[in-house]
Amino acid sequence: MSARFPALRWLLPAVSLWVPALACAALARALPDELHAWAGGDDPAMLAGWVQEHMRRADAAIARLTGAKGPRTLDNTLRPYDDAINELTFAVQQSQVLYGVGATKELRDKAQALTQTANAALTELSLNQAVYRGLSGLPAPADAGTRHYLEHTLLEYRLAGVDKDDATRARIKALQDQITQLGLAFERAVHDDVRTVVIERAQLDGLPPDYLAAHPADAQGHVKITTDPPDAWPAQKFGNNAELRQKLYLAVNSVAYPANTATLRALLQARADLAQLLGYRSWADFAMADQMIGSPARLAAYLAKVDAASRDPGAREDAALVAFAHERDPALTRISAADLRYWQEQYRRAKFSFDSQSVRPYFPYAAVERGVIATAARLFHIDIRPVAGVRTWHPSVTTYDVYDGGTRLGRIYLDMHPREGKDKWFSTQLLTAGIGGRQLPEGALVCNFPGGNGADPGLLQYSDVVIFLHEFGHLMHHVIGGQNRYAGEGGFNVEGDFVEAPSQMLEEFFHDYGVLTSFAHHYQSGAVLPQELYARMTRADAYGRASGQQRQLMYTAISLDFHSQPPQQLDFDSAYQKAFARYNTVAFAPGDHLWASFTHLNGYSSNYYTYVIDKIIALDFFAQFDGRDLLGGPAGMRYRHTVLAPGATAPAAQLVRDFLGREPNLDAYKRWMLAEFEAPATASSAAR
Ligand SMILES: [Zn+2]
Repeated sequence: MSARFPALRWLLPAVSLWVPALACAALARALPDELHAWAGGDDPAMLAGWVQEHMRRADAAIARLTGAKGPRTLDNTLRPYDDAINELTFAVQQSQVLYGVGATKELRDKAQALTQTANAALTELSLNQAVYRGLSGLPAPADAGTRHYLEHTLLEYRLAGVDKDDATRARIKALQDQITQLGLAFERAVHDDVRTVVIERAQLDGLPPDYLAAHPADAQGHVKITTDPPDAWPAQKFGNNAELRQKLYLAVNSVAYPANTATLRALLQARADLAQLLGYRSWADFAMADQMIGSPARLAAYLAKVDAASRDPGAREDAALVAFAHERDPALTRISAADLRYWQEQYRRAKFSFDSQSVRPYFPYAAVERGVIATAARLFHIDIRPVAGVRTWHPSVTTYDVYDGGTRLGRIYLDMHPREGKDKWFSTQLLTAGIGGRQLPEGALVCNFPGGNGADPGLLQYSDVVIFLHEFGHLMHHVIGGQNRYAGEGGFNVEGDFVEAPSQMLEEFFHDYGVLTSFAHHYQSGAVLPQELYARMTRADAYGRASGQQRQLMYTAISLDFHSQPPQQLDFDSAYQKAFARYNTVAFAPGDHLWASFTHLNGYSSNYYTYVIDKIIALDFFAQFDGRDLLGGPAGMRYRHTVLAPGATAPAAQLVRDFLGREPNLDAYKRWMLAEFEAPATASSAAR
C-alpha cells in the first residue's frame, strides 16, 4: 500500500464478527463469509468475488457520502468515509495476506493481482475531491479522538495531492498504481526465490543433532541446505566449516538478484517522480512529512545522536571479537561478514560460557507459543483462548480469541512455519479493522519458525523466541487498539514510525528469568531452564548490542540513500557497500547483494529508521516497569490504556508523553547497549 494512505503490511488489525452485518442490508450480497476471504477455499475466482464485493460496498459508502443532503454530519460524512476505508481494508489486507500465504500458485497470483486492484481503489479514494470537500465541510467534532482522526485524514488528503488539477491527479494515480505493482513484484521475487546450497555431509560439523537428522545425505553423501531461515540461520551460526558459511551467506544475500535490479530501479523512479509531482525534493521528504520525525533533516540530527552513542562501543565489541578470532586462527586478521554470526557465537561460548544450542531444548515451539500467549495475557490483563474448528487458509494455522473479562476483543491467527511458496519473513498482518461495538479486529502472524511437523519438536533459538514476542506485540497493538469508534482509528493507523515501539518493548520481557521460566521447560525432561544457564544466556545476549545498532543504522542508510538519490544514477551495489563500510568493521563479502531481497524497501521504503527510533522509545517505556514484578505491577495496565488502546485517536508523540510523563530520551537505550561493559562476565560471576 502506498505510504500515504494507511495500511501497510505491518500496520493492521482485524475483526471477527458477530456483528450483524451492519452494512446496509440492501448491499449485502451472498458471501460465504463476509469477514474472511479464505472461506471460499483455494478457488481464485471465489477470492476475486469476495474482494470485488467489498470494493462494491466501498463504492456504495462513497456514494452515500457524496450524495448526502443537508449539512455535513459525522453520520452522513465521516461514517460512510470510514465504512469505505473499512471495506477497502478487507479487500487490500486479505488479498495481501493470501498473496503471502495462499496454498497454490494460482491463488497467490490472483491474490497479487487483487492486491493491486484494491490498492488502486484506495488511491482513487485518496484523490477523490468530492469526498475531500465533504470531509472538509464537517464542523470540528467535539470528541478529541474523532477530531484527530478527521484532521489527520484531511492532512493525508492534502499530502496525497487531492487539490491538484485533473491531469495531475491522473498522473498521481498512475504512479501510485505503478508503485503498488512494482512493490508487489519486488516482494514476490523474494518469496519465490528459494536457493539451495549443496555441500558434503561432513561440512555440517558443528550443527546440532536435530538439524542433522532433518538434513540426511543423499546416496552421494551430499546435503541440500536452503535459504529459508530455519535452514540457513543455524548453519551460518553453528557451522564450523568456512566454505558452508560462505556459500550460504552469498546464497541468502543473492536471493532475487539480479532479477530485482530492474524492478527496484523502476520502483524508486516511480516514487521519485511522484514525490516531485507533489512538490517534494525526494521520496524521503514526502514519506516523512506525516510521520513523528517530520523530515529527513530532523532524522539526520537524531541519527547522529544514535551513531555517537553506539559507534565506539560497537567498535570495541568488534575489536574484541577480532582479537578472539585471531587467537583461534592466527592467520585471521579481519572477520568476513559471512563469518560474523559464527564468530559471535564462538565468542559467547568462550567469554560467557554460553552455547546458544544449550538452551534450545528449553524452547520447543509449542511451549514457546503457550508462553508468549500467557505472558501477553498477564501483562495486559486479557484472556487468549484457543478456538477449535475454525477454517483458515491452511490446516497448520491455529486460532485464538482475545477476551477482556467476558468481552471478546478480537481474533488472532498464527501461521508459524515455512511452506513452499509462503512468504519467507516474520510479520504481523492486519486482516480486519476493529470498529467499536460493531466489528472485532482480527490479525495474523506469518512467520517461519522451526517445527510444525509431528516428528520435529521445533527447538527454537533464544533469538527466535524474542522475535515471536516482538510480532505478538504488533498483534496486541492491533487488537487492543482496535476498539475505537472508527476503523481508521486502529493501532496500525498510528504514524508508521511509531509502529515498531510496542513490538520492540515486548521483546524486553523475555530477558526476565521469572517470565521466561513460566514456559521454558526442557522438552524431554520437563526441567526448568536453570538459573545459572539463564544468567550466562542473558550476559551473552547483551554482547553485540552496540554493533547490532550500528547495523540497524546501516539498514537505515540503505533505505534512506536509495530514496534520496536520482534512481537512474544509483549504483545499488556501490551505495550498499558504502553504507556497509560506514557502519561495519567486518569485511564485506564480494557477491553480497542484500538490497535485492531487502523487502523493507517496499514496506518501509525510506523509513527503515522506524526501528531505530522506536527501539529508543521501547526501552524508555520498558524502564517504567517494575523489574521485581514485571507482569504483575500497575505499569502494564497503564501502558495498555495510554499507549495501545488509543490506537490512532491521538498523535503518537502524545501517546509517548502520556505514558512517560515527559519527552523520550536515550538514557535507557544507552544503559541497555552498554550493559555488557558495565558488568563484564567471568566464569564465576556468570554463575551467580
Ligand atoms: Zn516489527
